[in-house]
Amino acid sequence: MSNPDIRSYPDVMQACQAIANLVGKVCEVPSTLIMRQNSDNMEVITASDSADSPFHSSDNVPLGSGVYCETVISQQQALHIDNAFDDPQWHDTPDFKLGMIAYYGVPINWPDGSPFGTFCALNTVAGKFNQQQTSLIDEFAAVIEALLKQVTSQEQLRVLADYDNLTQVYSRSRLLQRLQHEFDRYQRYQAPLSLIYLDVDHFKQVNDNHGHGIGDLVLQLIARQLLSNQRQTDFVGRLGGEEFLICLSDSQLNAANQQAQRLLQKISEIDVEVKNQAIHITASCGVAQANHSDQNIDQLIARADKALYKAKLAGRNQVKSDT
Ligand code: GH3
Ligand code: MG
Ligand code: MG
Repeated sequence: MSNPDIRSYPDVMQACQAIANLVGKVCEVPSTLIMRQNSDNMEVITASDSADSPFHSSDNVPLGSGVYCETVISQQQALHIDNAFDDPQWHDTPDFKLGMIAYYGVPINWPDGSPFGTFCALNTVAGKFNQQQTSLIDEFAAVIEALLKQVTSQEQLRVLADYDNLTQVYSRSRLLQRLQHEFDRYQRYQAPLSLIYLDVDHFKQVNDNHGHGIGDLVLQLIARQLLSNQRQTDFVGRLGGEEFLICLSDSQLNAANQQAQRLLQKISEIDVEVKNQAIHITASCGVAQANHSDQNIDQLIARADKALYKAKLAGRNQVKSDT
């Protein structure tokens, strides 16, 4: 799992703001910052809200510009500058150019030890930060790391809830949530919206003949095809059992039908061999495009389900649409 975006956690952002403000006040400096190192820049996550601070949340400078915090991150240790005028290495840096000549900053890391950024205080007046001030910054840096730990656990829970454990497509709850969002968008902008309801054919027989483990493997292989053959704007989720829903935003019925046909082709090409015996897998699809008759997302799903039923009745391994 990649590291989560702390900005999507409002409670944590609020706590960061309170920390920056408090430390800024106690240390009597114009700026206290929580900085994040991104792939190409250093970004202010939180700036103390003092009137004489030149920094604001979301301000950023490209990596390599030499801000003091970059040194903290690369050396993974505290940096204490009492007067940047005394050391020419700082004279070209953005911090120095803003008049910030005194600095104390410490690294902040994710729970796995990878760098997040820094917590630091800057001053326009030369002078060492005293022991009480540096301890305060050290201790609150530890609090920020504890917050990052909380964000990481919350993110893990979110991923667990949002993705189906077996197949890694969206879970039912996340799928329905995103479908609702897409339906709202359709109602607001009338952009085309189509659904493919896909159900594996005679899946009970796969389980009965080869065991539940092989059944699970088949579901995983099907999900892999659905994921690898989707466009960037599509998404797929598992409604339950051997049933999947694919949402195609900005797709008319015709395009959705073609995509369903393509997916069935890919599924029929899946190669599973049990005890030298090839298992042939097929699925059926029902397709529906949102129209004026749909009062809500459930009605659109029901029409795709109705089309699926027609595909099953017509002999399976085919696509039918509800018009
Ligand atoms: P049809 O072509 O009409 O869809 O027939 P079917 O056998 O696919 O449909 P049915 O609804 O009778 O059977 C679905 C089967 O899916 C029954 C259930 O045991 C199996 N199933 C549901 N969830 C899972 C799962 O997570 N893993 C496995 N291995 N089987 C599952
Ligand atoms: Mg079914
Ligand atoms: Mg089935």
